[in-house]
Amino acid sequence: MDGRFTRREMLRLGVAGVAGLALAPLSTPQRRSRRRGQVRNIIFMVADGMSAGVPSLADEFGKLVRGKGSFWHQLLQNPEVTLGFFDMASLDSLVTDSSSASSSWGSGSRIFNGWVNMLPDGTRLTPIAQIVKAAGKQVGLVTTTRITHATPAGFAAVQRRRDDEDEIAPQYLEVVDVLMGGGIRHFDPSLRPDKRDLIREYTHRGYTFWNRREQVISRERPDKVLGLFYNSHLPFTIDHLNSEELKRQVPTLAEMTRKALEILSRSPNGFLLQVEGGRVDHAAHANDAAAILWDQLAFDDAIEVVYDFAAHRDDTLVIITSDHGNSNPGLNGMGTEYRQSNACFERLALAKCSFELLPRHLQQRTPDAVREVIKEQLGIEINREEADALASALANRMPPIWNRQHANLNGLLGEILSNYNGIGWTGTSHTADYVWLTAFGAGREEFHGLVRNTDAFYKMLKLLGLSHKNPTMSPQEARKYLSHLPEPTQPHWA
Ligand SMILES: [Zn+2]
Repeated sequence: MDGRFTRREMLRLGVAGVAGLALAPLSTPQRRSRRRGQVRNIIFMVADGMSAGVPSLADEFGKLVRGKGSFWHQLLQNPEVTLGFFDMASLDSLVTDSSSASSSWGSGSRIFNGWVNMLPDGTRLTPIAQIVKAAGKQVGLVTTTRITHATPAGFAAVQRRRDDEDEIAPQYLEVVDVLMGGGIRHFDPSLRPDKRDLIREYTHRGYTFWNRREQVISRERPDKVLGLFYNSHLPFTIDHLNSEELKRQVPTLAEMTRKALEILSRSPNGFLLQVEGGRVDHAAHANDAAAILWDQLAFDDAIEVVYDFAAHRDDTLVIITSDHGNSNPGLNGMGTEYRQSNACFERLALAKCSFELLPRHLQQRTPDAVREVIKEQLGIEINREEADALASALANRMPPIWNRQHANLNGLLGEILSNYNGIGWTGTSHTADYVWLTAFGAGREEFHGLVRNTDAFYKMLKLLGLSHKNPTMSPQEARKYLSHLPEPTQPHWA
């Protein structure tokens, strides 16, 4: 040690930084020209499907695999950073999905799960991106999912079915200035059923099209960007880290966030930026603990980038939250006096791929082969009986499982691995828990304690000095529309 403070220590102590980074204390009082209560920029960060237990696991996981805990936890050591909760219920359920969740922040109205900024009677709501854009600000959406997916769409699009992503793709034109994520398939004419060339439409309207990581980390700063780095969602971080090709091709969430801030910070009237770590949710649906934690750390890196931008300003509000829990992973007490829990948790660091890539390694589906692949790829030696059960499930003969949410391959694998890594799960779907809500910067005091999801919309507009009222519908009134709804054909996260 050379005796100097690390950035983390400075952050904890709230002292100004060295080495070119001005890390001012967050407590900077509202000063200079900003009118009282007015905020110029809002950065809204969402770790999608991040259950309440995930941040604490990620902090420990970070220490294990990178020798440092999470930046989010460090941030919370500062008394000027608030920690509260969002109540994220939707119009038709205590358990929300991502489109109604993002729409509740994006329009101030609770709507049905699966819809985007539209009431059950078809009334279109005005999303926040359109409002702030009309006020002369710029807008950015950055995500690790398809850019047309539920969470980004909830800030900028209006659509009856969230799965109609081909319809959502053109809606960002002229509304969102910086778009970065996955989802080429909804823009490329050779991949869209209607052959419409959205890449050309965007470039004709002044967007620079990017599809490689090197463009994101270059010195280029076009005014408008359509950055699409994968056909569908960006790969899980754990798979990204283990592939030289993916590392070359696909930027990280932190890299995209940094570039978005470089571009948007030139906006003369400020900006609204949403940053989504979208695949935390997908890993949770799959009960894939290692994939969750690696993606949560990638989200954490993006928090650090945002902090570096916002901490020395007095005109920027940063909100860090999630839209709902998912399968609620938690580290159980393992062994006598729980003394095996730590050793179990440490096994998560041995995983070399997400569950998404496991089938690639399973050429043969015998119990021996399954056992070998799980040992090779996840670092865990399951027993013979467990291997038999998985091999049966792979052959579509599901062993009896009483929790029906777990009566599928992922649920069974999650249950079996929990015997070794200690991570237990409530199911394979979203949960109703209040979600973490951290805020810092100008206007943070509006976001402490328990906040109803829809209030975020009105609080953000008020802080930006804007106003707009969207219509709402009561749960009683909405009930009559429920019986006419068709069932979706496939899960939204696929
Ligand atoms: Zn989900």
